[in-house]
Amino acid sequence: MSFASIATLQHEIGRLDAQGLRRRRRTAESACAPHVMVDGRPMLSFNSNDYLGLAGDARIASALQEGVNLYGAGSGASHLVSGHSKAHEELEERLAAFEAPHLERARALYFSTGYMANLAVLAALAAATPGETEIFSDALNHASIIDGTRLARASLTIYPHVDVAALETALAASDARTKMVVTDSVFSMDGDIAPLPALLALCERFGAWLVVDDAHGFGVLGEHGRGALEHFKLRSPQLVYMGTLGKAAGVSGAFVAAHETVIDWLVQRARPYIYTTAAPPALAHALLTSLALIEGREGQQRRAQLELLTHQLAAMPLRAGWRRPVSHTPIQPLIVGGNAQVLDLAQALEGQGIWVTGIRAPTVPAGTARLRITLSAAHTHEDVARLLAALEPMNSEI
Ligand SMILES: *Cc1c(COP(=O)(O)O)cnc(C)c1O
Repeated sequence: MSFASIATLQHEIGRLDAQGLRRRRRTAESACAPHVMVDGRPMLSFNSNDYLGLAGDARIASALQEGVNLYGAGSGASHLVSGHSKAHEELEERLAAFEAPHLERARALYFSTGYMANLAVLAALAAATPGETEIFSDALNHASIIDGTRLARASLTIYPHVDVAALETALAASDARTKMVVTDSVFSMDGDIAPLPALLALCERFGAWLVVDDAHGFGVLGEHGRGALEHFKLRSPQLVYMGTLGKAAGVSGAFVAAHETVIDWLVQRARPYIYTTAAPPALAHALLTSLALIEGREGQQRRAQLELLTHQLAAMPLRAGWRRPVSHTPIQPLIVGGNAQVLDLAQALEGQGIWVTGIRAPTVPAGTARLRITLSAAHTHEDVARLLAALEPMNSEI
């Protein structure tokens, strides 16, 4: 006798298969780097969010080993029970100092993942005024923000992508006691940057929080890699900043930096912070080394290399029908049209040992299927030249 619900799942997976939407994972057999072994084959990869090339850095790896020697493997409990260690505390102090130029009375809180940090901020800030909170969210925000708005059980207004005028109208019409505007700083599918100065001006005018998800900006934007707030030179007590530490920082986790009262409130009320085991202290210890690299001269050199590679890629001429949206970030989409076209293209590149993920509808709007090329400071000019050379014949042919 088979259990009917398994048949239901099989049926649904079969439908995904038929639409070419079934997801499969590749297995990387070496450290995260531009040149990786994937399923037994050497590939040149343009997929990771390891923008500064720190994920495989030997100095961070040895700091992680040192952290394990100091603190062991696991934290043993949640932060509010007994899992909060000196390594977490040190990291939070460093992160608060890192973002302090942009916040009033800055404090920081370390989370296991950015996904949880977004859930925590949105749900906890909304919980301060139950039934009297309205969240204003950009239409292209990350899935973790969407899930955070659901967990918040607040009223929700989704404004058209980066449409400041529409947001202004919505804020003006709101009589919620707590208003919260939430946005990605760098949008993950197009690489464009949110108009944060205009958004912050609106938030100040209407008395709203501005929650900035800087997953793709932290470490990358700004002279010292402090991210989007440094890039735009913003400072306000109404800013709530979320940066991730598994992308440019090359390790794992995330943090929220904000006015000390916001952080204290998160510690009191944020369920995704309170009811989960603290991340291994060794990770926090390794992140101290990562932060020092990001902030210093080496970080600046890596950001400069990233910019050179971005210009090199952007100089590629495009055939009719292909489009490259303006992006000043290491996320460089190449829009080619339909789902089948992008799959063909990704497969043709794979045949030449180049691994670039094709992103299809419904993840992006129909007709805008794309190669999502991401660059890393660890790429060389030769790596990018190889990608361009591989694209060249398809660029003129298909
Ligand atoms: C990756 C990402 C997250 C989630 O961060 P994790 O640490 O990977 O959980 C949140 N927001 C955006 C925009 C992201 O790209």
